[in-house]
Amino acid sequence: MLNACQAHLKEKYYCPHCQQQLTCCNAPPFHVGDGLGWGSAIMYICLNDECSLYVKGWKHIEEKYGHTSSYRYMQLPGEKEGTPMMVGSNDAFKGCEVDLESLTKENKRYIKEKEAVEQLDTCVADRNLTAALHLVLDDAAGKESRERACDLLVELNDLACIDPIRNHKFINHSLEQKINMAISQILTANFKKECPHCAEIIKAQAKVCLHCKRDLG
Ligand SMILES: [Zn+2]
Ligand SMILES: [Zn+2]
Repeated sequence: MLNACQAHLKEKYYCPHCQQQLTCCNAPPFHVGDGLGWGSAIMYICLNDECSLYVKGWKHIEEKYGHTSSYRYMQLPGEKEGTPMMVGSNDAFKGCEVDLESLTKENKRYIKEKEAVEQLDTCVADRNLTAALHLVLDDAAGKESRERACDLLVELNDLACIDPIRNHKFINHSLEQKINMAISQILTANFKKECPHCAEIIKAQAKVCLHCKRDLG
């Protein structure tokens, strides 16, 4: 679905009947007419209610077939010409619009996730905190990669990962537990702790917080 749409994100199609730009819609799971697949996850449809094809269609179908339907102009991606498609109501295909903006966003996120996953194998050798941290903080990334990234953060043993993690609100609670464990391992390995009052990272043996000056005894 994502890849199918990606190729056509920048394409624009126009209705030959009303010259309005066609709307990118999710294709129905099967061809209404012949039961075959559309061969595409998306299709471009003229959703203009003032479109002459659509306005005239009601009368045309009523006279020709005797039922209440009309046509909307439809074009499949990559094809030069579209075709009138029968619709049974004004609502047909409304609400099926593909949200190109969020699709583009999701695609960018996915590319970043993939890059980070590829870097995991070498991140400890490269002392590369970025990839593992990126995955831990990306709530839409795959669960397995995030858990692996969490383990790698312990190996990387870099205190710099703690602040960004503490500033992140985790949706997945089991991952949150795992990351909390990882943080306490990293703190212990560096002889540090978090101040219970101000959350700053301080020496494990500190009796008074260096930052908020409060008593830790
Ligand atoms: Zn039109
Ligand atoms: Zn403090």
